[in-house]
Amino acid sequence: MRIFLLIIIMITLLMGQDSLQKVSVQLDWKYQFEFAGFIAAKEKGFYRDAGLDVELREYRDGIDIGADVLGGKATYGVYNSSIMVEGGRVKPIVLMGMYFQHSPLIFVARKGIKTPADMVGKTIMGTTYELKYSSLALLLNHFNISPKNTKFVDHTFNIQQFIEGKVDVMSAFRSNQLYELDRTGIEYEIIDPAQYGFMMSAVNLFTSPSEAIKHTDRTQQFIDATNRGWKYALDHPNEMINILLHKYAAQKSRNALKYEVQVTKQLMMTDFYPIGEVNSELTVRTFKQLIQTGVLKEGQKLGRYMFKDIAANSHEKIKFSDTEKNYLLGKKKIMMCVDPEWYPLEAIRGGKHIGIAADVMEIFEKKLGLPIELVPTISWSQSLLYAQQRKCDILSLASSAPARLKYINFTSTYLSIPYVMVTMNEKPFTEDMASLRKEKIGIVKGYSTVGMVKAHYPRLHIVEVKSINEGLSKVESGELYGYVDNLIVVSSYIQKEYTGILKVSSRLEEKDDLSVGVRNDEPLLYGVFEKMVKNLDAAVMQSIYNRWVSTVEEVSWIDYGIVWKFLLIILIFGSAFTWRYIVLKRYNKSLLELSITDKLTGLYNRQKTDIILMNEQKKVSRYTDHHCALMMIDVDNFKAINDTAGHQAGDRVLYYLANIMKTNLRNTDILGRWGGEEFIAILPHTTSDEAMVVAENLRCKVEEFSFGLGHSVTISIGVGEFMKDESVHECVGRVDTALYMAKERGRNKVCQV
Ligand code: GH3
Ligand code: MG
Ligand code: MG
Repeated sequence: MRIFLLIIIMITLLMGQDSLQKVSVQLDWKYQFEFAGFIAAKEKGFYRDAGLDVELREYRDGIDIGADVLGGKATYGVYNSSIMVEGGRVKPIVLMGMYFQHSPLIFVARKGIKTPADMVGKTIMGTTYELKYSSLALLLNHFNISPKNTKFVDHTFNIQQFIEGKVDVMSAFRSNQLYELDRTGIEYEIIDPAQYGFMMSAVNLFTSPSEAIKHTDRTQQFIDATNRGWKYALDHPNEMINILLHKYAAQKSRNALKYEVQVTKQLMMTDFYPIGEVNSELTVRTFKQLIQTGVLKEGQKLGRYMFKDIAANSHEKIKFSDTEKNYLLGKKKIMMCVDPEWYPLEAIRGGKHIGIAADVMEIFEKKLGLPIELVPTISWSQSLLYAQQRKCDILSLASSAPARLKYINFTSTYLSIPYVMVTMNEKPFTEDMASLRKEKIGIVKGYSTVGMVKAHYPRLHIVEVKSINEGLSKVESGELYGYVDNLIVVSSYIQKEYTGILKVSSRLEEKDDLSVGVRNDEPLLYGVFEKMVKNLDAAVMQSIYNRWVSTVEEVSWIDYGIVWKFLLIILIFGSAFTWRYIVLKRYNKSLLELSITDKLTGLYNRQKTDIILMNEQKKVSRYTDHHCALMMIDVDNFKAINDTAGHQAGDRVLYYLANIMKTNLRNTDILGRWGGEEFIAILPHTTSDEAMVVAENLRCKVEEFSFGLGHSVTISIGVGEFMKDESVHECVGRVDTALYMAKERGRNKVCQV
């Protein structure tokens, strides 16, 4: 009998063991208090309570944590710095928890080096990753500290280098190296990126999209148990130190671990943040900073980066089937084409998708956990063409038309807006469009409206125009009698540009039923969008609508009584508006000029030059034959001019230089002051070789000019051109290198990259 009982007990135990799910966590350093929460959760049975059998893996040299987790070798991983970057792109990981809200990564500097500016010209020791991607990298970048002006050496992970003065600055972990330094009694300064606004988190827990989406519950349970572990560890530090020393063979002394406990408590900031809280704001901010500094290429999104969004979705009404989930996992992003000129329904402004449809797409993006990426186009017809050529998976806002069904399926309608006709103000209101005969009516080419109007009002003369802008201006010039489009778009344009000139003079029976157009060769994608459209919340839609359409009443004012009142108001206030408009426009113009010009030289300032550079870069990337050359121009030995002839004479030299260069460039070239005594010239439609000739001419003209200093002033020039898909930052960097070469070769030279 006893034996029988024993067997039963053993079987239950074994079965219990079996029912635990095996998962693993790859840590990013050796066992120490930094991972106490994970260790406590394991040792205290919190993972087991959650049904998990967790294997903790200590860091060893050569391990690539990101690759291991994404490749499924480890279920979860821990890393430092809030965003994982690889090759200029965000790695497609899912962030589950942030344990150190404040990164321990700092610079430790020799006494006297107090600010980042003091680090210029010194020797800095750090790892490549830290100096490229971490908060330290953001700090260096912000203060223009680069190999050009400062020496960087690889980290030896030995503080001896620093103690002996072989390096002036080194990267360090507050929780580790400071303890060692304090014991030597050596004096040092701390430069913490956070004090300069570059904050990142550390001990970030992450997983792969596949784990997060397929095993959402398990992932959540792992997070909860880990958080429980951290709470325990912070409450029982001495017990954890014992476990670390005896069971985990931590390579640190008891005192070093005690020191680490104190620092860990500070960095976790549990007074402000719940344990493990993912601070989305911090992540988004870091993301933006990384883009600004050029570490991350532009035009990417964080996508399904936060586990909390994925978890929230899994509790939503929308349930994607397993087939759909697998399909979405395989799909890295969804390419979207839009109407670039259909404000406020949607438009592309500054390369971004805006308007009602953009807000709806943002909701979808969250639900999908996938980035929806804009494929920029210059017209709606081009968007349709791209959809046909499968350059985009979806059209954000489109109405169904028979011709389009060959390549697109349309979801249910999510926006329905009446069609109206716009005419000149003095034209009569038309009750019934059918009463018009042979009148020329404009409609944008490619809009489904063309077919609809032709079918219902066969007697009208339809003229296809390129865009709403062209349509309205042709109505204004009298070339067209009217223009047909949907009410919201039309009212917005009238309000903005044609107040008192054009009006809505008729409403069609038909409505514009708008939905998402999905490529018809991927039925799963269609199913997914149909589900999301069906589940759009009416209240949310209303608030999006209100946000973009200034007042809700505008939709209902197509009641004719109100239209008449509206017209009357326009008549009365029309002239006042126009007057105010002219005055304001003039005022804005002078403000604008002030904000974009450099006071001393009258050239474009840095801000404006940056914007122009960005636009040119886009053109080069978009159009195959567009070239754009850059020249970086730096005055030689300018400091000496200041020192001998005085600062004012220096200013005069800069002023003259600007004029010489301006007169020797074409009107279409752009000259800006890059900073100090450096200028940048942007030469659209010019290759680097052609720019070399221009640069050489500039160099001679400057050398020949008499500045009245008793000697000539010379400049060095770096020349290059934008390459396809290269960021502004990268290109300017290359051209800067050419300038540096020109200086190296003895100044008064032109060099090309
Ligand atoms: P290099 O040939 O290597 O370029 O030597 P440089 O002396 O021109 O270079 P450096 O960058 O050392 O010195 C630039 C000087 O330009 C330092 C700064 O005081 C001066 N400077 C920057 N902006 C202005 C300005 O607006 N007016 C005047 N007068 N001087 C300026
Ligand atoms: Mg300079
Ligand atoms: Mg100079």
